[in-house]
Amino acid sequence: MPDLSPLEAVTDRAVVGRRSSPLEHVYLDYHASTPCDSRVVEAMLPFFLETFANPSSSVHTQGRRAAEAVEQARARVALAIGAAAGEIVFTSGATESNNLAIHGAARAASGGRKKLLATSVEHKCVLSTCKWLATQGYEFAAIPVTGDGAVDLAALVDLVDDRTILVSVQAANNEVGTIQPIAEVAQIVHRAGALLHSDAAQALGRIPMDVDLSGVDLLSLSAHKCYGPKGVGALYVSGGVRKAPLEPLLYGGGQEGGLRPGTLNVPGIVGFGRACEIAAEEGPIESRRVGRLRDWLESLVLEAVEDVHRNGALSRRLPGNSSLRFDGVEADALIANLPDIALSTGSACSSGAIEPSHVLTAMGLSREQSYGTVRLGIGRFTMEDELEYAAHRICDAVTKIRSTGTGVT
Ligand SMILES: *Cc1c(COP(=O)(O)O)cnc(C)c1O
Repeated sequence: MPDLSPLEAVTDRAVVGRRSSPLEHVYLDYHASTPCDSRVVEAMLPFFLETFANPSSSVHTQGRRAAEAVEQARARVALAIGAAAGEIVFTSGATESNNLAIHGAARAASGGRKKLLATSVEHKCVLSTCKWLATQGYEFAAIPVTGDGAVDLAALVDLVDDRTILVSVQAANNEVGTIQPIAEVAQIVHRAGALLHSDAAQALGRIPMDVDLSGVDLLSLSAHKCYGPKGVGALYVSGGVRKAPLEPLLYGGGQEGGLRPGTLNVPGIVGFGRACEIAAEEGPIESRRVGRLRDWLESLVLEAVEDVHRNGALSRRLPGNSSLRFDGVEADALIANLPDIALSTGSACSSGAIEPSHVLTAMGLSREQSYGTVRLGIGRFTMEDELEYAAHRICDAVTKIRSTGTGVT
């Protein structure tokens, strides 16, 4: 059993009462999505049935109430990352925030700046956006990473120049959990007069985030990665919407300072705000609990089977992330043997695809090594007994596959 402090043990017990899944379904895919916290759902409910008015309808009380709730949520999201409320633009999620940041900055760029840079381990929505823009008169270059998935700072120094519009470096990786040195990246990027964008979908609520300390200009967030609802997120725009060199992707009624028009998703935004409030209060203690559970899970697996390796930066990775590589075992076969455990090969967005994960490939792993990798994601509602069970089932399946070839029953 992992060592828990008394306070963490209390949190542990509080969580036991809220466990939503029976032991025969163990959810270990917290990087793909998280369950909505029941406190978040509670906060959202009045905004479907009672305070449903359009927050832009400021002429009546109901509209003003909805607008007040949106502004309270904005302040809570801002507080979670050390921003001012006026620097938060609500969107439909991190995919849209990433598109708005990159497209928006590219379209607004002037002074002969044409170049976009992003690390080779970014989420597909960042890389696809940059690659499409490269077909539209912009230039794109991928910044390489080291073997543990960290951005190669020397390569960044070589690539960034006075023609660079924006550099995109994620706060933490969604496959191997590697945390990037954003503050160091910001210094390099700003010396060249370029903007720094960071996709923090995985980081919010898991590691400390402060836009002033890190020096980012644009930061993408997603509610459903931090126990909020799906379909809502935010883009932090340094200095607020007036100062931002961004063009909108959508044109309409002028909401969100004109950067993201359309009637606001009030229940979703309220839920996102509540999720950020909980993350700010409980994030540090939760991360310690989750990190210890992760270390314990890894020790169970490493003790029980041979030839297993951990991908990523072991000393700088998300507390709930474990990317495990089993020699001679295909992750697909492993997952087929574990229908009662939700885990993933590579990233959810590319699973089903035949190519190995672009993240693992960029880190220098061979095809075989990529195919032998499974991603385990631990989070707020993960219990010790679930991990004990999952570790046991995974190790059994690995042993079976190694002895029979596929092991699929
Ligand atoms: C999940 C995720 C996204 C996409 O977020 P959505 O809100 O689902 O659009 C983008 N980047 C990273 C790193 C993610 O983990």
